[in-house]
Amino acid sequence: MTSQPPSSPFKVIIIGAGSPPPFKPPSQPHPHPHSHPPSSPPLHSPPTFSPLTIPGTTGLALARGLTRLHIPFALYERSPPTARPRDWGMLLHWGTPHLLSVLPASVHPRLSETWVDPHYDWSEPVVRMDGATGEITGRTPGQNLVRVSRRKMVAFLEEGVRVEYWRVVQGVEVLGREEGGGVRVRFEEDGGEVVGSMVVGADGSHSKVREVLVGAEAARCVDTGFTMINYCHARYTAEQAKVLRSVHPILTTGWWGEGRIAYLLAALDIPSLDKPEDWQFQNYMGWHGSPHKQDFRSSQDVVEFFREKASHFCDPFRTAAQGIKDDTILPVDVGHQWSPSQWDNRGGKITLAGDAAHSMLPHRGQGLNNAMQDAAELVTAISKVMYENVPLETAIAAYEASMIPRGAKEVELSLQTANISMGENRRRDFKWKYSLAQDVEMNETEGHIEK
Ligand SMILES: Cc1cc2nc3c(=O)[nH]c(=O)nc-3n(C[C@H](O)[C@H](O)[C@H](O)COP(=O)(O)OP(=O)(O)OC[C@H]3O[C@@H](n4cnc5c(N)ncnc54)[C@H](O)[C@@H]3O)c2cc1C
Repeated sequence: MTSQPPSSPFKVIIIGAGSPPPFKPPSQPHPHPHSHPPSSPPLHSPPTFSPLTIPGTTGLALARGLTRLHIPFALYERSPPTARPRDWGMLLHWGTPHLLSVLPASVHPRLSETWVDPHYDWSEPVVRMDGATGEITGRTPGQNLVRVSRRKMVAFLEEGVRVEYWRVVQGVEVLGREEGGGVRVRFEEDGGEVVGSMVVGADGSHSKVREVLVGAEAARCVDTGFTMINYCHARYTAEQAKVLRSVHPILTTGWWGEGRIAYLLAALDIPSLDKPEDWQFQNYMGWHGSPHKQDFRSSQDVVEFFREKASHFCDPFRTAAQGIKDDTILPVDVGHQWSPSQWDNRGGKITLAGDAAHSMLPHRGQGLNNAMQDAAELVTAISKVMYENVPLETAIAAYEASMIPRGAKEVELSLQTANISMGENRRRDFKWKYSLAQDVEMNETEGHIEK
């Protein structure tokens, strides 16, 4: 059992980091103090369509900010140290200054290491098309707009951060004064327990720490009726790969069936411009209503559905879908969300950040950007406790007073955007001008997002 004496100095416990990014999973786990013997069963049986482990950026960004200010913390992650992270691309835009604020200036010039294509200069806004005809229907501008790889972002943020892997949080308890007045976090299996001053749940959409805060029932994500296939391991021949980047080098989105089916085709990893056969792509298809995840009986069912819908699309989508092999497992995800409202943060000792605090649909590309703002604001709040004698309760209340309404508004706006662009209330004349911006409102009557 790992624990600290009650008199120990201020220490933050962060839940949810990411796994190191090996490109190929080794056949045996590395030796690790908390690793299970190879004969042990896996901690979780893999979900049918999502067999890879999911790493996180919120906890790591927070850890980097605390490191910079010499604030003690410990970071726990349920993934084994050898897990291959599930990768996808994310639009990073207004969140960039928040991300930079938690990092030392010396690494700012290296941010392009996280981009899906470090060679691209981002001179053209991303493209939207009529999926059937190929007509360009618009371009989506964004402040500081780049597309980052989740895997690369985890690798970048993890530099110099110590992560305790294979620690699955089971519960959190607030300690009485006689025990030091902090928090105790218990881990599943033989993971023991740790004591700290406060705990930050950065443990993703299905956060365990959120359950502790609001109860299991209220913590549950809501199914929005949207479903998505998000396949990020597609590789092609050199000729096919060039077609895929012909409309826009990074991201092309198309709609078909009066907007019912959206197809997002994106570069995910472009290691060298000279070797298109090594380029990796993300294929994402989203829709509202039937079929739902549970309606697919096999991975073959999913491939057939994907191919049939993609057959109505023109290039570059058609070439992308045709290049996907019969035996591919295309992950199907339920489009869920969770919207925050004020919780009892136990005197500031338990709080949330990132997807744990506000889980939103990806249709406005806001989750990571908000997560970076959470990390930056939480670093500021905790530094006030450390260095300015601000009570923990006051500092965390200030953080939550900003984060909770911002997160709740974005959860709603992302759902409205999904609904108006491809849901039951879809409008073909929906204008995307401010669709990536922060501090905007949806005008459903006029069919646009306004500043
Ligand atoms: C398809 C898709 C596209 C997206 N596109 C964009 C985009 O364009 N722009 C944008 O801004 N955002 C986008 N997002 C959202 C973005 O991915 C997230 O908001 C962002 O990665 C922050 O995630 P997180 O670190 O909070 O959570 P996660 O990435 O889920 O990390 C949580 C971590 O906690 C760990 N964990 C979970 N439970 C436990 C436990 N009990 N004990 C210990 N550890 C635990 C997990 O293993 C994981 O490593 C997209 C999301 C999806 C799904």
